[in-house]
Amino acid sequence: MIRVIVTGAAGRMGTSVLTAVSAEPDMEVVAAVDPAHAGESIAIKSGAPLVIMPSLEEAIAVSGAHVMVDFTHPSVVEGNLRTALKAGLDCVVGTTGISSETLEALAAVAPEGTCLFVAPNFAIGGVLMMRFAEQAAHFMPHVEIIELHHDRKVDAPSGTAIRTARLIAAARASVPAAPGRETEVAEGARGALVDDVTIHSVRLPGLVAHQEVIFGGLGQTLTIRHDSIDRTSFMPGVVLAVRNVAQHSGLVVGLENFMDQ
Ligand code: NAD
Repeated sequence: MIRVIVTGAAGRMGTSVLTAVSAEPDMEVVAAVDPAHAGESIAIKSGAPLVIMPSLEEAIAVSGAHVMVDFTHPSVVEGNLRTALKAGLDCVVGTTGISSETLEALAAVAPEGTCLFVAPNFAIGGVLMMRFAEQAAHFMPHVEIIELHHDRKVDAPSGTAIRTARLIAAARASVPAAPGRETEVAEGARGALVDDVTIHSVRLPGLVAHQEVIFGGLGQTLTIRHDSIDRTSFMPGVVLAVRNVAQHSGLVVGLENFMDQ
């Protein structure tokens, strides 16, 4: 059995992770951590409800966990990862808004053999959207990204949009000229630049997680769009990562690393 701690357990993603992981025959949720909800009882798919714990250190000490799954907040994820990696746990991270430099620094001090796995998007369709965008960028370098999320998302642009921009930047041979800040009659109208790729962030109630990558060429456009219409879309990816993370070590970014196995 893979013994799993879930941090951010009472959150929108955390509660879905508890349900998905506890439904797997080879996995067991051994602790749920969420300081703001400590002491509350939370139902899981199989077995008795869990009582949410206030501290990750305490959860690690009493649970004998192998893996931590973190869907928390950009302001706390680094501390959680430092604690879990130091204790030798493999980490599966969905929390967005962490810099590449921070991830590399954390992986560098992690004990030999532990894995820090991070996926900006755990939805299989989201991963394919990024892969297809990377392929298209070889042939169509003019591109902009529109990402659309629920209005309680704490970071903009989304981790998926940043990752997509970086993949496109690495894939296209040139950076074509595009109208920039100098054309704006209202500040921000031209969006944010990540590696010279423009990203526009939409935040509205009713949305979950969506992205369009729009390529433009002579007399044509190509739009690659992915929609997560429910948080269950992320769960097969989370389960895949929990199952595979022990076979890897160091920093691994992107679910495609496990999908290709
Ligand atoms: P949320 O606000 O609903 O949940 C976050 C939870 O973390 C809250 O319950 C909060 O109390 C808890 N928390 C805060 N500090 C903590 C700590 N120190 N230890 C443990 N728990 C703590 O947010 P959400 O919508 O569930 O999103 C969480 C993160 O996951 C965000 O960064 C979001 O962007 C990301 N996300 C990633 C993907 C993906 O596929 N990678 C998909 C959806 C969301």
